[in-house]
Amino acid sequence: MNKRDYYEILGVDKNADDSTLKKSYRKLAMKYHPDKNPDDKESESKFKEINEAYEVLSDSEKRHLYDQFGHAGVNQNAGAGGGYGGFGTGGFGGFEDIINEMFGGGGAGRRRSGPNKGADIRVDITIPFKDAVFGLSKEIEYYRTEECPTCNGTGAEPGSSVKTCHQCNGAGQVRYAQRTLFGESISVKECNVCGGTGEVPDKVCHTCKGKKKVKKKRKVEIKIPAGVDNGSVLTLRGEGDLGSKGGPRGDVHIVIRVLADKDFKRDGNDIYYELHISFAHATLGGEVKVPTLEGKVKYPIESGTQSGTVFRLKGKGVPVLDSYGKGDMYVKVIVDIPSKLSLKQKEALKTFAQSMGEIIPDKNKNLFDKMKDTFN
Ligand SMILES: [Zn+2]
Ligand SMILES: [Zn+2]
Repeated sequence: MNKRDYYEILGVDKNADDSTLKKSYRKLAMKYHPDKNPDDKESESKFKEINEAYEVLSDSEKRHLYDQFGHAGVNQNAGAGGGYGGFGTGGFGGFEDIINEMFGGGGAGRRRSGPNKGADIRVDITIPFKDAVFGLSKEIEYYRTEECPTCNGTGAEPGSSVKTCHQCNGAGQVRYAQRTLFGESISVKECNVCGGTGEVPDKVCHTCKGKKKVKKKRKVEIKIPAGVDNGSVLTLRGEGDLGSKGGPRGDVHIVIRVLADKDFKRDGNDIYYELHISFAHATLGGEVKVPTLEGKVKYPIESGTQSGTVFRLKGKGVPVLDSYGKGDMYVKVIVDIPSKLSLKQKEALKTFAQSMGEIIPDKNKNLFDKMKDTFN
């Protein structure tokens, strides 16, 4: 499936700031909203496409991933099976706010009141080249929200009493008039003082200042599977920030960076290596020992092998992530021409050249001798 570029969908350029993005989104969402285009399949799919694009680009973290990895960085199940996946759609966030603003929160029951999933967390790690090839277990550390231990998540100082919320008078909701593109509308919104409970503590918890949550460091041992590559994203479901009102925790996305190796280059599951052999070895042929990711292997070099010749070692590449099989290794032969020879070695080489019918001019002859040669 070929997905359209999110920037293209919203008709903005890659450097568009948040307000440009929002403006363009509003315009398009207005145009294609199902309420305005009943029973129009094309508008409906356009509307979905616009929302998906906006959901990603309006979230700085997701936008960053999208810029780096394209659709693979932000779409669910972008990877192959296992614990891998891209970034799920964890609650619409800004999108719903705009829709509520535009359509007065009516109709499709788009009011945000129920449980909300906690925020996703991004953790960046860097691993050595060979660990990406073979996989490893690694402890990672990050901060996430936990229920406040002092108030057990109530937001009230232990022992303090609760009183009725002054903002909503205990209703948990507030009504407000709003100007929309279709004129004035009355909306109902969750009370931001009591968070919809209708009650506030007499004295707020001194630890969380009434927020009910605290940030805490968390260490977790993760298993990085063999075959991950630069930019692979490992997702730990339900290990992110605490949800609200009983909503599930968010996820943790571990973005992997792989260090380069000084000898081996990698492209996907294939490995590239340059093997240096001597001029004599290349000419005469004979066995070489080639270093691979899993130790040395023997390979017969044919006599007369030219510099630049590439041979393949099947299955000596990187394991395919979450699947079977391995890539191959490509070995490029580089024939080294000796730069320093002893007098004796030079003589031997001259004799060799003569036997091939070749006359090599003597570079030690002086200028006068060379001119003499030219005129003879
Ligand atoms: Zn209230
Ligand atoms: Zn507390």
